[in-house]
Amino acid sequence: MPDENRDIPIASAVLDYATYDADGLPPWVAPAEELIAARAKPKTIRKFFRKTEEAVKYFAKSMRRRFSLANVGDDCVACGTSPCPTVVGVQWMVRMPLKWKQIKLSNDQPRAKFVTHHAMCPACLERWSRSLARIKTARMAQNIAQWTIFALIILLPRALPRNGAASAWRAVLWPTYIVVIYVGLLVLRVWSKRRTPKGIARTLPPKLQFVSIEFFDDRERLNDAAAGLPITGKA
Ligand SMILES: [Zn+2]
Repeated sequence: MPDENRDIPIASAVLDYATYDADGLPPWVAPAEELIAARAKPKTIRKFFRKTEEAVKYFAKSMRRRFSLANVGDDCVACGTSPCPTVVGVQWMVRMPLKWKQIKLSNDQPRAKFVTHHAMCPACLERWSRSLARIKTARMAQNIAQWTIFALIILLPRALPRNGAASAWRAVLWPTYIVVIYVGLLVLRVWSKRRTPKGIARTLPPKLQFVSIEFFDDRERLNDAAAGLPITGKA
């Protein structure tokens, strides 16, 4: 995706903190934008803001601007088909740890959600959706396995006679339990990270959490809707 062609407003001559937008954030913080453009970790922009909450909201705002509908490229981000007539909207969450001085009696990390837009063809969306469904099933299976083994650990000693069979079972079940939890969670984590199409992952900063696919629609239709024109015909 050609980054240089994106319609990103250039730094204005006003001081960064001189004027605020209606959202209560500065319109353009040049050093933060540079880091975001270089795909640095989100928390690296914290130092340009008074509060982490402000930094996290600014990050989301900058991403919305960079990945707005108007900036969607022509090629499908997954297979490269061009021109790609359809656009997918993806919701992400960004979190930032609080600044050292801000640490309170809470482990709540400031977070913000935002949607990015990408060109994607129906076949690639279908593939992505299927892989999302598979991981959902795997997550459910991991959960069921975990609780089943836990129930066995609790119930077996009661059900079996006290002749050593119960402790032998436990000796097997406990390690299995640990493996199901830790290896299971690790595998699910790596898998869910890799399921995002590479063409999308490559253009985004790291450490973002995928939330959901928000919508999938015809580009022209979306443009009309964005321009406030009545949407006609195509579904
Ligand atoms: Zn495609």
